[in-house]
Amino acid sequence: MDSRRKFLKKIGAGSLLLSLPPIYAQQAKVLSREVNKPIVLSTWDFGLKANAEAWKVLSTGGRALDAVEQGVRYTEADPTERSVGYGGRPDRDGKVTLDACIMDENANIGSVAALEQIKHPISVARAVMEKTPHVMLVGDGALQFAQEQGFPLENLLTEASEKEWREWLKTAKYEPVVNIENHDTIGMIALDEQGNLSGACTTSGMAFKMHGRVGDSPIIGAGLYVDNEVGAATATGHGEEVIRTVGSHLVVELMRQGHTPQKACEEAVKRIIKFTESRKKTLDNIQVGFIALNKQGEYGAYCIHGGFNYAKYDDAGNQLISSPHYLI
Ligand code: ASP
Repeated sequence: MDSRRKFLKKIGAGSLLLSLPPIYAQQAKVLSREVNKPIVLSTWDFGLKANAEAWKVLSTGGRALDAVEQGVRYTEADPTERSVGYGGRPDRDGKVTLDACIMDENANIGSVAALEQIKHPISVARAVMEKTPHVMLVGDGALQFAQEQGFPLENLLTEASEKEWREWLKTAKYEPVVNIENHDTIGMIALDEQGNLSGACTTSGMAFKMHGRVGDSPIIGAGLYVDNEVGAATATGHGEEVIRTVGSHLVVELMRQGHTPQKACEEAVKRIIKFTESRKKTLDNIQVGFIALNKQGEYGAYCIHGGFNYAKYDDAGNQLISSPHYLI
């Protein structure tokens, strides 16, 4: 086909897509193997509202990095979400300690862990990425840096979370339960109109954890990973298990080897299951969920126990999708 005909064909396909209702436009993209972009995915049902914020950036041609930061900031600021940011459940000493990381299309990374009194750890993580020679700051050092950057000090322990913590103190048993809302992280991954990927991950971690405990969420490779040639992945659930398998990096590497996002998430969950069995532990109270997105805008998710869901926003709209799972 000469280049003029190719050009006309391209123009024709593009205007046809524009004139179709969103759901058909998305299907047409998939059928024509056109990249499904922009698109954003995020963990759990709070991902719907976060996606809507991210979509404001993506749908106007903005950068995936800005979209994921803006998206998860919404959840961080929402006191009714009790496992992320302001209003998050405290550790066993009554302190709300936050973990977050961010990664862009150029493999720039930034992270904070065990950060107290700052409502938007994701933006501090971005500042670590953009304004320091380092990639991770923790505890007092992270707090000092955040203050130097002008982030205000705030009390993050809401009445509701304090009440629940005081109740917990009566037995003081650390028993994270599968899908009982005493944990959950927002991990968000996006592909922008330019075809670039970025991701963000932010959490208050496991409720009533030991003071100083850090999970997978601020660990690049564990809670989040992005490779702009391949795809992006993020995790939620028991961070210790995700760190053990360097889970999000594993998902991305599986996609590099040719697996679909769906299959890559399944294989990573199976690795967690294999390690759990070889350590002679039970899966009963271990939940981990992964979501993944590739350069084509194809996506997938998988988890151990049923009950994990994720939100996807693309041309077809903002939808909550129930993740397939390993155990019945
Ligand atoms: N991954 C988080 C952590 O281990 C918690 C969660 O997502 O449920 O801190």
